[in-house]
Amino acid sequence: MSFEITPEVAQMRERVCALHAELLRWGLVTWTSGNVSGRVPGTDLIVIKPSGVSYDDLTPELMVVTDLEGKVLAGDLAPSSDAESHNEVYRRMPEVGGVVHTHSPYATAWAARGEAIPCVLTAMADEFGGEIPLGPFALIGSDAIGKGIVDTLAGHRSPAVIMRNHGVFTIGKDPKSAVKAAVMAEDVARTVHLARQLGEPVPIAQEHVDQLYDRYQNVYGQQPSPKEQ
Ligand SMILES: [Zn+2]
Repeated sequence: MSFEITPEVAQMRERVCALHAELLRWGLVTWTSGNVSGRVPGTDLIVIKPSGVSYDDLTPELMVVTDLEGKVLAGDLAPSSDAESHNEVYRRMPEVGGVVHTHSPYATAWAARGEAIPCVLTAMADEFGGEIPLGPFALIGSDAIGKGIVDTLAGHRSPAVIMRNHGVFTIGKDPKSAVKAAVMAEDVARTVHLARQLGEPVPIAQEHVDQLYDRYQNVYGQQPSPKEQ
């Protein structure tokens, strides 16, 4: 039975394909490492980068469509080798609509040291609601990475986790939000690393972290006008 590419699936393929350019633009990836995936809203369909294809050669039609178990429904190539980790997140976190994985250098340096990134910047309180937590060491190819991501994020407000000795995974309500979290994670990882070279960064009081997070998540940005509400 052939799989029907609905307009929603086609749109998600275009979005996921285009977002890979953002990983390059922000310096988060090298060669073919790194990947973005998205859940087609209201379905159990996942759209993810194919394995081992150069970023310059990605097209919407090459994006692989799978079910939550990783069975390929559309696309001629094998999905990213990280697909099982993404799928475990989608299976266990129904609210998640996008997942990103990178080995972005500063955040991954924290992973190599086995250290969570402490919340010492207001931008971290805004975006991550506290520290960026450290997940466990897990061998690639097993389901341990996905489990480690979900178990670690369950105890935190952060949409980003750095997996020990490996790299960064981020989640979002859609793929764009997850890409934003990956960009912000690398940015704060760099700044806090630089701060460390000069001395011990000063923590932010928990009550202030809470206030900053609440304001950023609920008040900041363009509010819809009354007639759009
Ligand atoms: Zn990786």
